[in-house]
Amino acid sequence: MEFSQYAVDKLMFVANKPPVVFTEGQGSWLTDHAGKRYLDFMQGWAVNCLGHSPQCMQDALVTQGKKLINPSPAFYNEPALELAALLATRSCFDRVFFLSSGAEANEGAIKLARKYGKVHKNTAGQNRYEIITFNHGFHGRTLATMSASGKPGWDTIFAPQVDGFPKAEIGDLASVEKLITDKTVAVMLEPVQGEGGVIPAGREFMQGLRALTEKHGLLLICDEVQTGMGRTGELFGYQLYGIEPDIMTLGKGIGGGVPLAALLCTERVACFEPGDQGGTYTGNPLMTAVGLAVTKEMLKPGFLQTVKDTGSYLRRELLKLSERYGMQGERGEGLLRALQLGKDIGPAAVEAARDLQPTGLLINSPRPNLLRFMPALNVTKDEIDQMIVLLTQVLDKLA
Ligand SMILES: *Cc1c(COP(=O)(O)O)cnc(C)c1O
Repeated sequence: MEFSQYAVDKLMFVANKPPVVFTEGQGSWLTDHAGKRYLDFMQGWAVNCLGHSPQCMQDALVTQGKKLINPSPAFYNEPALELAALLATRSCFDRVFFLSSGAEANEGAIKLARKYGKVHKNTAGQNRYEIITFNHGFHGRTLATMSASGKPGWDTIFAPQVDGFPKAEIGDLASVEKLITDKTVAVMLEPVQGEGGVIPAGREFMQGLRALTEKHGLLLICDEVQTGMGRTGELFGYQLYGIEPDIMTLGKGIGGGVPLAALLCTERVACFEPGDQGGTYTGNPLMTAVGLAVTKEMLKPGFLQTVKDTGSYLRRELLKLSERYGMQGERGEGLLRALQLGKDIGPAAVEAARDLQPTGLLINSPRPNLLRFMPALNVTKDEIDQMIVLLTQVLDKLA
């Protein structure tokens, strides 16, 4: 296949992309238009939890595609019902609503919390609508989720923002407590800040936050778009910390690469009334059939234990690199990890890794001083070894 600059220039320009067109993917490997192979430790930003084109997803797409693609969200369908029941059984939640993207799920969580704050008013009889979120948090790219995010600069790009998202500091309970007013209805965070640089909220902070939100009658919302679906070695990230949130959102891994997301809540919080929430693609059987296949794969005996084991293996190997190059260590949970470079060589390392010959390596640098690793959850130790060899070639030149 030829690389067509003409066609590239017809796409709306929203990001600098390398002059590479990917044509095939299998497991941890991608192939580009020129036939070059890449070891993929990004996996579509932690989306392809079972790697590229796993058999169970292919089967679900073909089987469901032949059977029923979209009867309309006005009617029930089998895969959506089965997936909702499975997610509820495996979590602390009672109700599930399906959507197509993480941002949309978070938008739904924000609406649900605001509705709850309208039903459960403050002592002065006013609606509660403020949701405390965190600096460096990431919740998506719709106007409300950008406002909820704490990405530097995002408060001004599309000003005015959606109101009502005061920002606290992760790990600092006092910074949350300070922001609580009689308008506050919820606190929303990622159990591990992903885009912010793989920063785990930590057990002590999460338990403190759960106690604080309970004391003040606030909802706790976990954005598990990145940490959910086995990424941390637990099915859901909140399970790492021994707490139970009131609302959770899922995206990325739940579809294994196809657009599927979910909003979950406990029975007490499920206060939407007809007309409050909906969407054309809500719970369509094609995507939920894939989600069901992916979830069942993940619940097979030993799967999550293997994620924990390979996560520890990746951690050990990254620590060795850190020591070897005098870096600042690594952090993360399960197979969501970051190497703290100590210098702003992240973007250069990403480019050099991709350009390696004959085999490239795909990694990502959410902040200039770190590299993030989010391989397929079924990545092998051998593939981790291969990644380390490739990365070493890059760091020998840059670090
Ligand atoms: C990726 C991500 C989102 C946004 O999901 P989209 O599917 O891109 O809309 C939201 N929250 C977190 C924590 C994410 O990692």
